[in-house]
Amino acid sequence: MSAQIIDGKEIAAQVHEEVRLAVAKMKETHNYTPGLATVLVGEDTASATYVRMKRKACEELGIRSIGREIPANISQAELMALVTELNADPAVNGILVQLPLPRHLNEEAILNAIALEKDVDGFHPVNIGRLAMKGRDPLFIPCTPYGVMVLLEKSGVKVSGADAVIVGRSNIVGLPVAMLLQKANATVTICHSRTRDLAGHIRQADILIAAIGQAEMITGDMIKPGATVIDVGTNRKDDPSRKRGYRLVGDVDFESAKEVAGAITPVPGGVGPMTIAMLMKNTYHAAELALKI
Ligand code: NDP
Repeated sequence: MSAQIIDGKEIAAQVHEEVRLAVAKMKETHNYTPGLATVLVGEDTASATYVRMKRKACEELGIRSIGREIPANISQAELMALVTELNADPAVNGILVQLPLPRHLNEEAILNAIALEKDVDGFHPVNIGRLAMKGRDPLFIPCTPYGVMVLLEKSGVKVSGADAVIVGRSNIVGLPVAMLLQKANATVTICHSRTRDLAGHIRQADILIAAIGQAEMITGDMIKPGATVIDVGTNRKDDPSRKRGYRLVGDVDFESAKEVAGAITPVPGGVGPMTIAMLMKNTYHAAELALKI
């Protein structure tokens, strides 16, 4: 039996619409427009594409977009000064510094410098700390992990009591997803490159989150029948039939997995669109914090 396909594009469109309506209402009621500053350092093509998509989403939803294009050779002090300036700017509710930064810059110091109430990416250590602690909530949830949770919720997947396995433990995806799932009362196992019996762990999962960065590594025979599979991976696979010479695939082998899983996200069109949708939601939330509503 073929799995239910979780349509990330459709669910992201619903979130966009919710945010668009909320922004319009905020303008009407409070005469206030949320603003998102996006900082792009250097000329990395993928980063430039992501930033362009984020700015376009702002425009579509009525959020003010404040774009800063910075040469790759900016010094640490200059970038810190820019963050300080944006922290103080009342027209800026959210600050997004597109990662990765050029190697000479100290990413941790830059992310730490972003004001907590403008940390719409959710990567400030205080936000991550609150995410990890019982009885505390972060001001912002990191966008991709937040998107994973919304996909589960909108697809009607029962998280409480489920056995959830996350493959990957990065600061931006695996770890925060694991913390969110345990907050939602799943029993969580985190796997990584040193895990001894990866397939054995994966086979126990009612909910499987793949955030590895290895094309089609998880195959259908490893998956528990009926499991929900959320594939965060975005990998290029050579494909001479495509004009650009490659196509995007996930960390899960979609064709074999969909025959076993109960529900599964495709790549592209699964988690990807949710990341920007949740950034927009976080930016709206930052404006709520600024207005104290
Ligand atoms: P990282 O490279 O930072 O982390 C990868 C994780 O996978 C690490 O924890 C690593 O283990 C683990 N891992 C690597 N190889 C194996 C293996 N063979 N077996 C088990 N575990 C393994 O990647 P990210 O978390 O940043 O990204 C993961 C994927 O998600 C990528 O494909 C990325 O492109 C995609 N992504 C998609 C987004 C979206 O919006 N859709 C947003 C962000 C990322 P260890 O810790 O031991 O090294």
